[in-house]
Amino acid sequence: MALNEYRKKRDFKISPEPSGEKAAPKAPKSSLIYVVQKHRASQLHYDFRLEYNGTLLSWAIPKGPSLDPSVKRLAMQVEDHPIEYANFEGVIPEGEYGGGTVMIWDQGTWTPESPDVAAALEKGDLKFTLHGKKLKGSWVLVRTRGYGSSSKTSWLLIKHRDEFASSKVDVVQEMPRSVVSNRLLAEIARDGGGDVEKAATGDPTIKSPAKAPKIPKTARTGSSKNARQASASKTVSERTPKRRKTSS
Ligand code: MN
Repeated sequence: MALNEYRKKRDFKISPEPSGEKAAPKAPKSSLIYVVQKHRASQLHYDFRLEYNGTLLSWAIPKGPSLDPSVKRLAMQVEDHPIEYANFEGVIPEGEYGGGTVMIWDQGTWTPESPDVAAALEKGDLKFTLHGKKLKGSWVLVRTRGYGSSSKTSWLLIKHRDEFASSKVDVVQEMPRSVVSNRLLAEIARDGGGDVEKAATGDPTIKSPAKAPKIPKTARTGSSKNARQASASKTVSERTPKRRKTSS
């Protein structure tokens, strides 16, 4: 598969992303790379990549993966990326294609669940097992008629029911850090001279620790209903820091 589209969009004199000029390692490999890169570009998304035929097949998932088998996550197929891209974490300069901060959110290997990957891709129904640090077990990417007119590139990522499925854990919220550096997006941006404020809008909001609601002294003699309302509205404002308002 050609990397022409990937290279056409980027200026490697400016962006630290790999050009993919070096030939992919030819040594026979028993495992295929899997990586998810959290990318705070013009919109936050998760780039889901699977090694296949010497490149990384790539999908951009706006909401990121879900461990809940009842949840289908839109995955827009994008251009193949070079194998070396799996190791890229850092800052793409603003003004360049995909300008913003990139985090290696998950990495590991993947195994196709049917032997003929080309046929599965052609059919638009790719079943596979992930061996990542955050995502494990059986998943499917299924092509959909999609949104709007560009139907060919729309897929859905869905977790299969197995021991790694969960309807309780929101994996993108609860596991927000890099699996290689343990950094949040804002920390990667800071270290790479990027836009820290913009990157921070992709990090989860820190919730204040749950506290027993305090009844204000002045309300103790009043109705308990008022006191509950007062503490409830305070909790809501604490949970909504200013920077969330600027995220899109
Ligand atoms: Mn991206």
